[in-house]
Amino acid sequence: MNLTKDHALTLDSADPLAAFRERFVVEDEALIYLDGNSLGRLPRATQSRMRELVDHQWGERLIRGWNEGWLDAPARIGDKIGQLIGARPRSVLIADSTSVNLYKLLLAAVIAQEGRRTIVTDDLNFPSDLYIMQGVAKLTGAEIVVVESDGIHGPVEAIAEALDENSAVLCLSHTAFKSGYTYDLSAVTALAHDVGAVALWDLSHSVGAVEIDLTAAKVDSAVGCTYKYLNGGPGAPAFLYLREDLQEQWQNPVSGWMGQADLFGFGLTYDAAPGLTRFQTGTPPILSLSAIEPGVDLLLEAGMAAVRAKSVALSDYLIGLWEAKLKPLGFRLNSPRDVARRGSHVSLGHEHGLAIDLALIEEMGVLPDFRKPDSIRLGLTPLTTSFADVWEAVERMRLVVSQRRYEAYRTQSVVVT
Ligand SMILES: *Cc1c(COP(=O)(O)O)cnc(C)c1O
Repeated sequence: MNLTKDHALTLDSADPLAAFRERFVVEDEALIYLDGNSLGRLPRATQSRMRELVDHQWGERLIRGWNEGWLDAPARIGDKIGQLIGARPRSVLIADSTSVNLYKLLLAAVIAQEGRRTIVTDDLNFPSDLYIMQGVAKLTGAEIVVVESDGIHGPVEAIAEALDENSAVLCLSHTAFKSGYTYDLSAVTALAHDVGAVALWDLSHSVGAVEIDLTAAKVDSAVGCTYKYLNGGPGAPAFLYLREDLQEQWQNPVSGWMGQADLFGFGLTYDAAPGLTRFQTGTPPILSLSAIEPGVDLLLEAGMAAVRAKSVALSDYLIGLWEAKLKPLGFRLNSPRDVARRGSHVSLGHEHGLAIDLALIEEMGVLPDFRKPDSIRLGLTPLTTSFADVWEAVERMRLVVSQRRYEAYRTQSVVVT
């Protein structure tokens, strides 16, 4: 492994995606931003899109905007996200938050899987997803089976054992938010299908970073977030996926007027709209919804194969540097070694993890994030992260520990990073 900074610069000059960085707002060139897996950078095209939307569409067109593209936007932009994840047209809809979409699909699935009682998940899953399951369980009497992992790797064999003829839904995050472990989508979906359960995947930490083919993997249903690798902006609405043959079998439990067959008929009885439209509930948030499109367009232009190839190269490079420079200083690899099972962030554990994270942010110009108990999460976003960024981040982490800079931060606690 070549450890020089010159080597990082050589990798950057050979990077076919390097030019995409200029398509994003980078106000502070000195800041090494490694949190694009929590909040992606702002695409330049989004700035002009938002101005046009506010000044022209809202300011001038007013209510006419609904017939000039707003009503169809959740399905139209949903289709573009669908192209990133191997979904057939009209099987992705943008609506609500990831948590709310999970609630809608999970409750719909449990009801549709009548007679089956368990929801199977793992302990790597995002807490909100477990909270949603607990809410659904309370309402339906379903039972949640949380399969235990080693904290890093998906417990695939134990999941296979937990699934049986009583399982209604297998509900997992495709890429784990802490360790970055990525499940084999086809193989694990097949485990659910083998016992007659349906699969509901949370793609939040995969979409825009990992290659996904929902159609080939025969996935039943999925949800995902748009403000991470899709660069949709803070609090941008989420998406849901439902395979075509299930769209009219599953009922949206939060039935509202935007999912009504005759929207402007104002009849007093709910009559579900055809297709996936029924999973819309209320009025879509047009401002934040529209902000999703430019980031998705950039990923479509780059192509997910190229995005994944660079993500793999970045995380392999980071792990090589960790082994040579950080492992001797007490940093542990809290992510899978096998690149086929790794998403686009790498977690490094350290007994002083939180203090190191704070020192990086406060005095070293590096912005990662921290997840309890000990993980510093380094998010690698292929359209904007360079190999030189990775080299610099590792070098500065080395300095924080070797110069004992973290000691000044050992008593602090933190609210949001
Ligand atoms: C970020 C993330 C979410 C976000 O949920 P919201 O309800 O949109 O806030 C959900 N699930 C996972 C796995 C995530 O990583």
